[in-house]
Amino acid sequence: MDRYSRQVLVATVGKSGQEKLLKSRALVIGCGALGTVIANNLVRAGIGYIKIVDRDYVELDNLQRQMLFDEEDVEKGMPKAVAAADKLRRINSSIEIEAEVKDVNRKNIEELIKDMDIVLDGTDNFETRLLINDACFKHNIPWIYGAAISSYGMTMSFIPKVTPCFRCLVSSLPAPGSTDTCDTVGVLNAITSCIGSIQSNEAIKILLGDKDSNQKLLAIDLMERSFEQIAVKKRDDCPLCRDGEFEFLNKKGPSEPIKLCGRETIQITPQREMEVSLEYLKEKLEKIGDASYLGLLLKFRVDQYELIIFPDGRAFIKGATDKGIAKSLYAKYIGA
Ligand SMILES: [Zn+2]
Repeated sequence: MDRYSRQVLVATVGKSGQEKLLKSRALVIGCGALGTVIANNLVRAGIGYIKIVDRDYVELDNLQRQMLFDEEDVEKGMPKAVAAADKLRRINSSIEIEAEVKDVNRKNIEELIKDMDIVLDGTDNFETRLLINDACFKHNIPWIYGAAISSYGMTMSFIPKVTPCFRCLVSSLPAPGSTDTCDTVGVLNAITSCIGSIQSNEAIKILLGDKDSNQKLLAIDLMERSFEQIAVKKRDDCPLCRDGEFEFLNKKGPSEPIKLCGRETIQITPQREMEVSLEYLKEKLEKIGDASYLGLLLKFRVDQYELIIFPDGRAFIKGATDKGIAKSLYAKYIGA
């Protein structure tokens, strides 16, 4: 308890509040600019169990804002979830921290969120957020949305049966190319720190039992110094709130390639669960290109492309702008 003494002194926390936090379980989905800030705050605050899920690995241009990583993580090509968990365990060894290197999708999200008291959004895309929204409302788990770009960002807490849902806020998926991304307009580390901190604090409030104070969308622009609270209403035509329809969770069909936010990279996910021997694959690939096995992932360069292959069979195809090209490179070098 000593390590939390300054937090226990805060009237809204107190000793009993801290005990509650120590018994709480949180899932952080996405461990980039928002996720590192969220996970860092929650670990230091003494949330008893924290799981971090992320599909990506650390690159040099992440260090400007992704607070748990350093140059050594870049050199080693560390998966973000693993690098974050390693660092966080050195910060607080008295709580349980788990890392999973995987893409969150409709097949695994329910398994990931079950037994959680709260879910935090550190993702960078609408597809995953709509999936989190479906799964959390189905399993009655609060989740905290966060997004940031350039100098502005927003956050809102979604509590099943209490607040509107994420679909009430965005109604449907934006058309590809219609929204700005970090790729086109960049992002400042102050706004991601700010939004991530507010998300973690809202999570703590909810874990302490406060479900009333945070029902508005908070929009911040640091360059304008504007903080705006915007009321969001339940939509009469929301398929989730009105009909209990889990459209994104129940979607059928194969996993499609995904274009990753912020770079010319396409992710291919195998259609069934598998485990790839990266050492074996390296032996095969080094005959036709430049392959390096980094322990937790395999990098393979051929022509103008770079393939990053994970043990679960997923691959990032860098340099591919077209999903068809990415698919055929995957089939050619990794297997159909
Ligand atoms: Zn809704």
